[in-house]
Parts: sequence; structure tokens; C-alpha cells
Amino acid sequence: MKQTILLCGAAAAVGLTFAGCHSPVSREIRALGVQSEASERSCTLRRNGNFITIYPGSLRANFNGGWVHLVEPAQRTEGKSGVYSLSEANLKKVVAPLLNREVAPAKPVKMILIDPGHGGSETGATGAKHQEKTLNFALAQKIRDELVKRGFTVKMTRDTDKDVSLDARGNLSGTLKADLFISVHHNAAANRTGTGVETFAMTPDGCRSTGGGAVPKQATLSNRYDSANLNLAQEIQSRLVKATGGPDRGVKFARFRVLVKAHCPAVLVEAGFITTPKEELAIADPARQRKVAAAVADGVEAFNRRTAAMKK
Ligand SMILES: [Zn+2]
Repeated sequence: MKQTILLCGAAAAVGLTFAGCHSPVSREIRALGVQSEASERSCTLRRNGNFITIYPGSLRANFNGGWVHLVEPAQRTEGKSGVYSLSEANLKKVVAPLLNREVAPAKPVKMILIDPGHGGSETGATGAKHQEKTLNFALAQKIRDELVKRGFTVKMTRDTDKDVSLDARGNLSGTLKADLFISVHHNAAANRTGTGVETFAMTPDGCRSTGGGAVPKQATLSNRYDSANLNLAQEIQSRLVKATGGPDRGVKFARFRVLVKAHCPAVLVEAGFITTPKEELAIADPARQRKVAAAVADGVEAFNRRTAAMKK
């Protein structure tokens, strides 16, 4: 059966307010099957066995125990403790798609395009011993092998150490009629202490990216998959955190060129920091790469179960 979404026209247009039992909007939300509980410090919404906790003034929200990012900081209504309002963008583009596990348009996953970041003259970030392009390729191969083992057809944007433009990588997902696109990268930080894993989804239409920047007036092709992008990123990120022990840097939004150009649901995985000496050793370890590959494949399978559920 198709799940109904929790949005309701009039309430959504003004930004819903979640509060204690006296608010009419709160009653409306409960009628739609969403439970809410709010305190001074946070507000939690529950539906379908999922929960999301928002914190006043914060972009970070906790979904089912892992970090995700809103597109605007959550607000607590001035002067009323325990009363929260959520903007229409946050509700439509983050909260509702996650609580309802929307993966529209729901299409079963058969063909997956894996994109080992950088290559050729583009080395990506560099650590003490390794170049990012090499570690990306090693991990991408393991992800490919794991997905093939599970019955998916998998192609790569590069099979060797060569230059491939960002547009060509994204466009290939259209040429090959891929059902999913997964770009594989490792992170860098100037201070050499960065740590943890994060997964990026394309920034939803009309919203700001997690790192800020301008909001384009027009939606891109990949914005057709806003809800699928977010849920794919969340399914992968939560498993990456478990497989690596984190830290959990969360699901984030960015308008990366490869994501903008993708013709199907797409994510970009940052599987650890090459610029942090201890973490560089870890991400170069084939045993960890296999664990990360299995986590990505588990995330893809979980996403695929969602598409099957949405189609019914
Ligand atoms: Zn990179």
C-alpha cells in the first residue's frame, strides 16, 4: 500500500508548529499519525516506527539514532517553551521524506554506477602515503564486487587510473540507464585532525546546502529524486557509521557537480580522512575497505526494499 505523507496544505504553507496537547496543529499532526513530544531542549516526531529529533537553533537533527541535516536551523517559538515550528522546506524536504521513507519515483534497483572519485592527473587529496584517487578506486572495486555478489549489475565511471570529467561521470548514469549512482571519495581537512564518515545527497530544490552557498533559482535534473537521494544517503550513512565505528558526521546536502549531473538517485560517500595519519592507515586497510563495501551494499539493499514497498 502507498504510504500517505504527513503534509497538509494549509499547515504546511505557514510552517507547522509542534507543541503540547493544546495546539490545534498538534492535533492535526496526530490525526495524520505523527506523534510529537517536545521539551525545552528538543522536539521529537515519530511515525511508522521512525523518529526525528530537532534541536532549537541547530541544523543537525537525529533520525533513528544517526545524524542528518535540516535545510534551515530548527526554531523554537519565541517565549513558549516546548513549542517548535518547522519551516515548510524542512518539513517537505527532510522530515516528511525521512519519516515516510519516501523514495519517489520508486523504481527497483538493478543497475548501479559506481564512481571512484578523481583519477589520472586529478589525484584528489593526499595523505602521508596515499593519494585519494587510489584509495577511492580500491574501495570502489570492493563496493562493485560486493554488489555484484548480491545480484546487481554494476558499472564504473573509470576502470583505470585516468581523467574523467565530472559532467561525463554524471552523464554516464543517463547513457547507461543506471538506477543508482554512488560516488566514492575520502575526505581532507587542513588541520589534519578530521575524522569520521559522511554521506552527501544532492541539495533539495530551493534549499541551502549544509555548507551554505547560493540557492539556484532553477531545479536541476537530479532534484527529481530529492526524497530518494536523501533516503539512499541515510540508509548508507547509518550503516557506514556502524561498520567503521564513526564518528558520524551525518547525512549532508551539497550541489556537487557529479550529483547535479546524475540521472538517477545519487549519493557521494566520504569514507574517512586521508589527511589524518591514523585514519589514513585505517582507510588503506583492505579489511576496513571490505567492511565499508558491505555497509554500502547493505544500504543499497535497504533502499531497494523501500522502493518495493512504495510501489505496492
Ligand atoms: Zn575527493
